[in-house]
Amino acid sequence: MTTERVAFRTCPLCEAGCGLEISVNGSEVVRIRGDMNDVFSKGYICPKGSTLKQLHEDPDRLRQPLLKRDGRHVEVSWDEAWEAVNSGLTEVINKHGRESIGAYLGNPGAHNLAAMTFNRVLLTAIGSRQRFSASSVDQVPKQVSAGFMFGTPVSVPVPDLDRTDYLLMLGANPYASNGSLATAPDWPGRLEAIRARGGKIVVVDPRRSRTAESADEWLAIRPGADALLLAAMIATVFESGRAEPGDHLASHINGLEDVHQALAEFTPERVEKQVGIDAATIRRIAIELCDAHRAAVYGRIGTTTVSFGTTASWLVDVLNVVTGNLDKEGGAMFPLPVAASPTTRGKKGIGKGFKTGRGKTRVRGFPEALGEYPAALMAEEISTPGAGQIRAMVVVGGNPLLSTPNSDQLVAAFESLDFMVSVDIYLNETSRHADVILPPPSHLYRSHYDLALLNFGLRSVANYSEPVFELPPGVPDEWEILARLAGIAQGLGADANPVAVDEVTIRSLVESAVRDDTCVIAGRNPDEIYEALSSPANGSLRGPDRILDLLLRIGPFGEGFGANPDGVSVAMLKRHPHGVDYGALVPRIPEVLRTPSGKIELAPPELLADVPRLRDSLSADPEQVLLVGRRHLRSNNSWMHNIRVLVKGKPRCTLHIHPDDAARLGVIDGAPVRVTSRVGSVVAPAKITDGIRPRVVSLPHGWGHSQPGTRQSVAREFAGVNSNVLTDHEEIDPLSGNAVLNGIPVSLSSVATA
Ligand code: SF4
Repeated sequence: MTTERVAFRTCPLCEAGCGLEISVNGSEVVRIRGDMNDVFSKGYICPKGSTLKQLHEDPDRLRQPLLKRDGRHVEVSWDEAWEAVNSGLTEVINKHGRESIGAYLGNPGAHNLAAMTFNRVLLTAIGSRQRFSASSVDQVPKQVSAGFMFGTPVSVPVPDLDRTDYLLMLGANPYASNGSLATAPDWPGRLEAIRARGGKIVVVDPRRSRTAESADEWLAIRPGADALLLAAMIATVFESGRAEPGDHLASHINGLEDVHQALAEFTPERVEKQVGIDAATIRRIAIELCDAHRAAVYGRIGTTTVSFGTTASWLVDVLNVVTGNLDKEGGAMFPLPVAASPTTRGKKGIGKGFKTGRGKTRVRGFPEALGEYPAALMAEEISTPGAGQIRAMVVVGGNPLLSTPNSDQLVAAFESLDFMVSVDIYLNETSRHADVILPPPSHLYRSHYDLALLNFGLRSVANYSEPVFELPPGVPDEWEILARLAGIAQGLGADANPVAVDEVTIRSLVESAVRDDTCVIAGRNPDEIYEALSSPANGSLRGPDRILDLLLRIGPFGEGFGANPDGVSVAMLKRHPHGVDYGALVPRIPEVLRTPSGKIELAPPELLADVPRLRDSLSADPEQVLLVGRRHLRSNNSWMHNIRVLVKGKPRCTLHIHPDDAARLGVIDGAPVRVTSRVGSVVAPAKITDGIRPRVVSLPHGWGHSQPGTRQSVAREFAGVNSNVLTDHEEIDPLSGNAVLNGIPVSLSSVATA
C-alpha cells in the first residue's frame, strides 16, 4: 500500500517560476496546485502549471531512445543509441572537421538546471563555432544593448513592478506570457496592484492584447516602430528641458549629450506617421513619464524581434535614464541574483565590457553575439558547400523547424544533413529529422533551480527543487545524457563516462573560483573546496546540483564555504522547500557596472551607428500590411501543444484581422485567408476583431503540427499553421542577429471555398 505525500517544486515551464505543491501516491501524480507558502508566488499558478502531471503521463513523451532505420524511428536500447551517436558524430568529425558540427539549443534549456550547467560543457566538447539558439529569435537584442551600456549581457534592468506608479510597456503581453526578462510570478496581480494604488499603465502594442485591455491606455503602434517612438519620447524629454537622470546617476554616466544630439531630429511630428501614434500623444506620454513619482519603461518581445531590436532595447533604457528612473525604487532596477552571476562576480563597478563580432558566419560574414550566430542563418550554413559547411547537427531541447525563420528553407537544409542527434522528449517537427533521439526523463525526475531566469528576478529569491520521483533503474538523468554526449563529441567513444566529464567540469569551476581575487574563496585550496562540495556530509552532490552549490555558496548571499555559516547553499535550500526571499530590488549603481569606463555608456558607438538606419526607416511605406505574432496563456512557443487540456476548445491558430481589412478582402469570420510573404505562404482562418490595428494581421507562432513522421497525436489534431513559413531569413537585426518575427510585410488574399 502506498500513501500520499506532497512535494514542492518550482514550475520549469516559464520565467515566472511559480511554486507548485505536487501530491503524489507511489509513482502517480494525484494533483498539482499552487504552493501557498512559496516565498515568491504565494499560491499563484497559471493553467500550464498543473499540466506537469499530463506532461509526465503523456504516452507520446519518449521513454526510450529512438533510432532512424529505413526512414522510420524505432525504439532502441541506450547502448545502441550511444553507439549510433558515436559512429555518426565521429564519422562527420573525421571527414570534415569539428566546424562541420552545428548545435542548436532550444528555449526550454533556459529553464532547466541540467541544460544550464551542461550545455556549455557540450558546446565546448563539440569545439565548433557553429552555435545557434532560440536566443536569436527572442531576447538577444536586449542582452546586446545591456552589454554595451552596462558591461554584461545579463545586466538587464527590470521594472520594479511592486513599487512603481507608472508603467510604460512596449511589445509585452504578460497576461499571456507571465512576464519575460523580468522574472516574477503573477504579473497580472502585480499589474492590477499598480492600478489599485492609483498608478497608471500604458501599453504600446499593435494588438489590444489582454494586457492592453487591462491597462489605462492602449497605444496601437505600427509594428516595428518602437525605436522611432522611443527616440521621439527621448527627444521630447530633452526638448522640454526635463532630461534629468538624477543625483544618484549624475557622476556615473557617459554620453548624455551625445544621445541628445543623436536623437534630437526624431521629433514626434516627424515620426508620427510611421509610428501610427499622433505627436500630441507621444509628447503627453513622455511628459507623464517625467512627472510620475516613480516610473518604469519595459520593452519585451515586440521590441526585440524586429529589425531595430537592439536599438529599441537601448532606447528603453535611455528613456529610463533621462526620466530619472534607472536604478531607483519603483523605476527600472538591476536584479541581484542569489547564485553567482556575471553581475556579482569579478571586480565591482568596472570590467572588460562587452563585444560582439568575435567571429563571423562562414557564408555571409555576419558577426556573432553572445557566442552564437543568428538562427535565421542556420539554413545557409548547412546548405552552402565549402570548408566549414555544417554536415551534422546536435539539437538540444529545441524545435527550430517551427520556431526559426523560413521553415521551408530550413527543412530542406536539415534533410541534407549527414547526421543529426536530438535531445528531446518528443518526436516533433525537428527531431523527426534526427538519426538518433535521446529523451531526457520527465521534469519530475530532475532537480531544478532557475539558474538563468533568476538573473532577471524582481526580488532576490532562491528556490531549489529536489526530484519528485527517483529515476527508474537504467534511465540516465538529463545531465548524464548531455555529459556523455559531450564525452563522445570529445572523442572518448560510445561509452564515454558522464561521471568523468562531471568531475573535470567541477574541478575546473573550482579552480577558476579560487584563482579569482574577488571571490570569497580566493586563494583557498581547491581540493578542500572540491571535498566540501562532494562529501557525504554535503549530500554527495554530483552533476548540476554540485555546480549549483558552488554558485550559491560563492554568490552574494552565499555560505562562502564557512565565511557565512547562515548563508545559502543547496543544503540550506533543501531545508526551505518554499524558497528563501532575500528581499526587493536594491540600487546597484555603480557596483553593478562592468564597463571598462566604470560608467553607464548611454551612447555606445555601435548603437549611435544605427541611428542613420533608423532615420532611413522613416521613408518606409506606412500602408504596407504587416504580420505580427501573438501568444496565448495556454501555449508555450512550439511545445505543450500535445497536452489536450491546454489546446482543446476553439481553434487558436487563427489570423486576427481588422474589420476594415476583412471587408476590403471580402472575407467573413472563419473564412480562409492566404497570407503571403517574400519567402512563403500559409492559409489560416480569419478571426475578425477590432482589437488589432488596421493593416496589421496576427498569427500565433509555434503551430504547424501536421508534418509526417512526428509522434504528437494531440498536437496533430490541433495542427494549425506554421507562422515561420512566412518569416524571412534575410531580415535580421544587424546588431544582434535576432530574427524579425514581427512586422513582416505580407499580402493577403481570400481563398475560395467550395
Ligand atoms: S506562470 Fe509559468 S511558472 Fe507559473 S505556473 Fe504558469 S507556466 Fe508555470
